[in-house]
Amino acid sequence: LIELRDVNKYFGDLHVLQDIQLTVGKGEVVVVIGPSGSGKSTLCRAINRLEPIHSGTILLDGRPLPEEGKALAALRADVGMVFQSFNLFAHRTVLQNVSLGQVKVRKRKKEDADKRSRQLLDRVGLADQADKYPAQLSGGQQQRVAIARALAMEPKVMLFDEPTSALDPEMINEVLEVMRQLASEGMTMVVVTHEMGFARSAANRVVFMSDGRIVEDRSPDEFFTNPASDRARDFLSKIL
Ligand code: ATP
Ligand code: MG
Repeated sequence: LIELRDVNKYFGDLHVLQDIQLTVGKGEVVVVIGPSGSGKSTLCRAINRLEPIHSGTILLDGRPLPEEGKALAALRADVGMVFQSFNLFAHRTVLQNVSLGQVKVRKRKKEDADKRSRQLLDRVGLADQADKYPAQLSGGQQQRVAIARALAMEPKVMLFDEPTSALDPEMINEVLEVMRQLASEGMTMVVVTHEMGFARSAANRVVFMSDGRIVEDRSPDEFFTNPASDRARDFLSKIL
């Protein structure tokens, strides 16, 4: 579904993505881990074309990512993204947050969008919060709204960039639970996270990045029991 071939990107002199090769099949859950600054967020943002790349190719469904215009807006809907900070519209209710993109980008009628939004809010356990504003919700609830908003666009793939890093410990699980559910329903997912329990239980593959390179790409079982590289071993010894 997603294929990155020989992708390179620089920030000035910094070679932040180096010869990245990555394939994510339909229904696969790929967890990306690695030290701070290794390029994980940049990789996600490149897949959504929030960051342009300098060379190489990124294909979604066999087609190169569009560069601009309507096709780019459609891409952003096809590739749902959930960030560490929830990025909800503060002056819109929960329901409006989930409905807006459906009306603007997917051209749904407001009533249809609202109906779908309520279904999705129910699915993430927030049916009773539809008329509140983001500031009236906990971090975990806001993040679940952000997930519902991305899902409302019927994305082909969901990217998660440290979705639980800004949350208090007791709220992490309610977000991971929604993600586990999505994974079990067959959603294609790329997840940057430090939640190794999630990686072990939900991932089909773990990709380990270091200094802009993909150093390992293997099953969670292999990765956690027998990492092939010193860098991964070193990283795991620090976080486990
Ligand atoms: P973290 O775990 O801290 O989130 P990361 O693996 O997501 O790290 P990136 O955010 O992708 O890392 O950043 C990779 C490198 O690129 C870092 O050295 C960072 O400082 C640099 N970088 C990221 N964004 C920019 C930017 N807009 N301009 C210049 N340098 C950037
Ligand atoms: Mg990051």
